[in-house]
Order: sequence, then structure tokens, then C-alpha cells
Amino acid sequence: MASDAARSEPVRLSAGDPAQGALSTGRVTLVLGGEAVDFELTVPAGPASIEDLLPIFHGLSDLMGDRAIARATASGETLSCKAGCGACCRQLVPVSASEALALAHLVAAMPQPRQAQVRARFDAVLGALAEAGLLDRLSDEGDLRGLGMDYFWLGLACPFLEDESCSIHPDRPTSCREYLVTSPAAACAAPTPTTIDLLPLDGDPSRALLKAEAVIGWSPLVLALTLEDRAGPSARELPGPELLGELLRGL
Ligand code: SF4
Repeated sequence: MASDAARSEPVRLSAGDPAQGALSTGRVTLVLGGEAVDFELTVPAGPASIEDLLPIFHGLSDLMGDRAIARATASGETLSCKAGCGACCRQLVPVSASEALALAHLVAAMPQPRQAQVRARFDAVLGALAEAGLLDRLSDEGDLRGLGMDYFWLGLACPFLEDESCSIHPDRPTSCREYLVTSPAAACAAPTPTTIDLLPLDGDPSRALLKAEAVIGWSPLVLALTLEDRAGPSARELPGPELLGELLRGL
């Protein structure tokens, strides 16, 4: 995947491996924050799943984040997020089913002993959640805010957090990419809707993925490894350009 935000050139994003089959490239204009932005998007020409197209959505999240940071900087604000600050990585992180699968596949492809270490961290988090009585509530969408706060106060680091930095930074989910704050970093240690200033983005790639998988809905990141065999809309395959068009309409 590559992105290019130059004004005269389209933003180029790609998903798919030419060694796995033919790719198809097309142009599309998206209106972001009232501005028409041209894109050149490359996806598998043949059947593709949402998981196959995730690099496009990672690129869109990154682009929207960059644009939001530029706007904030121009108006005198400063982004508080930086490497080594992992306070937000103790929150309940929602991911779409396809993103959960992608994380499961990422872990399955890790060499040993790293894979075993990461799996052990997932097991430890799930054990702590069970002990605190929160594990069953993770699939209950009734009181998300209460669940989110109860989860946060347990102080459980994401299994991918190492030395307070994301160890899977290039592959992190869209919701992690879209969480950018200008409020003081200290506020993230006790987040509330009134103390956290989130940067507004020009679109919502993470929500577009969730909408496309509405039958399953969201999953907490910490359950990703338990969803590996789950069948559903994320496993649905359409020709890449058709599936991409459907997903982009949800932005
Ligand atoms: S995936 Fe990375 S950025 Fe997201 S919560 Fe985990 S450590 Fe933090």
C-alpha cells in the first residue's frame, strides 16, 4: 500500500498481491471535508473479501488522519499522540469482523517464539476479563459506554502493545488509526467525553467496514483470535472493484 497526498496527483492506494491474481486499477473522486480528492485505487480484479481490501481502508484512515492533523496544526493545535504513549491502548478497541480475522491471520503468521508470546498476552487479557466478570459482557451491545469504562479501569494493555508502542503499527485496525487527540496526553489516563478532544475526520472508514458487516457487527480486538473460524459477511467474496464500490459508499 502506498499513499500520495500531492495535490496534482491522485492519491494511490492498493490492495492485493499480483502474485495471487490479476489486479484492477480505477479512478474515483471522493469529497473529503468539502474538497474533491482524486484517488487511483488498485484491488484484486477477481473475487475478493473485505479482508483483502483492508489496506485500502487503512490508507483512507491514515489519509483522513493526516488531513485532520494538518488542519489542527494550522489552527494552532498540537497532536498529543506519539510513539511511547499507549494510554488509549487500554481501551476497549472495536474492530470489524474482517479486521478481527486479519489480526488472527497476522498472529498466525508470526514466527515463534513471538507468536506464542502474543497468544499468551491474549490469553492473559481474556483471563483477567473473565475474572472481573466482563468476558460475557463483551458480546452484549446494550451498555457500550459502561462496558467501555469498566474495561478501561481494569488497565489491561492491548496484547499488541510493547514498550507503550504498537508492535503491529503498519497493520493496526482502522479505529486505532482514527483515534487522534489534541487534549493533553495525561487526560487519556482517565478519559471522559468532556476531557478528550478527538480530531474530527473527513469520513469514517472504520464505520464503513462495520456497516458492511452489519450482520456480525463489531468485535472487541481482544476477541480477535477467537473469531478466526467465524463465517459471515467478512468471508463474502465479490469481484474486487464491485466490493470496493460497495464499501466506499459507506464512508
Ligand atoms: S492494535 Fe496497536 S494501536 Fe491498536 S490498541 Fe493495540 S497496541 Fe494500541
